[in-house]
Amino acid sequence: MTKKNIKDLSISELESLMSELGIPSYRVAQMLKWLYQGCVRSFDEMTNFKKELRDTFRAGYCLSAPVLVAKETSEDGCVKYLLKLSDGNCIESVIIPDKGRNTLCVSSQVGCTMACRFCLTAKQGFVRNLTVGEILDQVIYTKEQLAPGRITNIVFMGMGEPLLNLDNLLSAIKILSADDAFGFSVRRITVSTCGIVPKLIELCEKTDVAVAVSLNAADDDTRRKIMPVNNKYPVAKLIEACKRLPLKKRARVTFEYVMIAGLNDSISDAKKLTKLLAGMRCKINLIPFNEHPDLGLKTPSNKVIREFQQYLVDKNYTAILRSSRGVDISAACGQLKGRIVKP
Ligand code: SAH
Repeated sequence: MTKKNIKDLSISELESLMSELGIPSYRVAQMLKWLYQGCVRSFDEMTNFKKELRDTFRAGYCLSAPVLVAKETSEDGCVKYLLKLSDGNCIESVIIPDKGRNTLCVSSQVGCTMACRFCLTAKQGFVRNLTVGEILDQVIYTKEQLAPGRITNIVFMGMGEPLLNLDNLLSAIKILSADDAFGFSVRRITVSTCGIVPKLIELCEKTDVAVAVSLNAADDDTRRKIMPVNNKYPVAKLIEACKRLPLKKRARVTFEYVMIAGLNDSISDAKKLTKLLAGMRCKINLIPFNEHPDLGLKTPSNKVIREFQQYLVDKNYTAILRSSRGVDISAACGQLKGRIVKP
């Protein structure tokens, strides 16, 4: 029998398991602490569990541990980890240090199905969703690497479309935010999506994490050219849903806008964007397109990007120009590739 990874269990599944095994419920918190604070590698390290109890867990469960395949450090301080999963596939996670913060960018899938034209992950196709444990292992692994430094923020902006792995994403978020486990405030966790409307609504109904929507164009003609998802969830539908998201009082949706030369970077595009988002409490993150020879698209000049930003600012939008981080090690937005094992 292959053993199940205990880190794949959600908190409620862990609670049910304990109750089925007749183990008192206070052990759930202890287990979470060992797994996610102690970051233990075996049940034997759980020293406040009696031997019989450890044997009980060991009989049916194992503890996953990703294997580091490569680690690259950018000249700007970003560190990219290529981690091998138990089936041989590899995913990438990136630590982005910035002014006392350490943001961890995690992957949610091996590959991606969304086929966005500007993204390198899309090029490699899709293999599978990550399990809950595989999502969390990225945090455990990088947290240990960073110690005594701390991960302060988590962004689901790595490989994959997190909302197409919603159940595992939600279970992972619960563990990330549980005081007995990682204890991250949900406000410090951001989920980024290309705009799967019903799943976005479900996410916001079930958790208070911050949301970022990869808008990238303000009209259907342009967006369709670069994001096939727009055929299913067109701009108007997406924005209407964003306006009605059940967000906490002060929360704002972030719209990401990858700027691509000659495609979505004109002042008339900026104008359309301001009209589209009129009256919304939101923030716009402008991301200069990270070029790659396989993608055949170009980054606009700094002047064009600055003028676009200024137009938005003049119309009273919060428009932040995200500096590209980790470009020299292919760790920037849309550059993560991982490594896929062909079946
Ligand atoms: N699937 C999710 C999360 C992964 S992409 C999503 O679509 O949001 C994370 C961000 O990187 C998205 O905002 C995307 O628009 C951006 N991105 C992708 N490729 C890029 C590239 N080549 N240059 C700059 N940003 C890119």
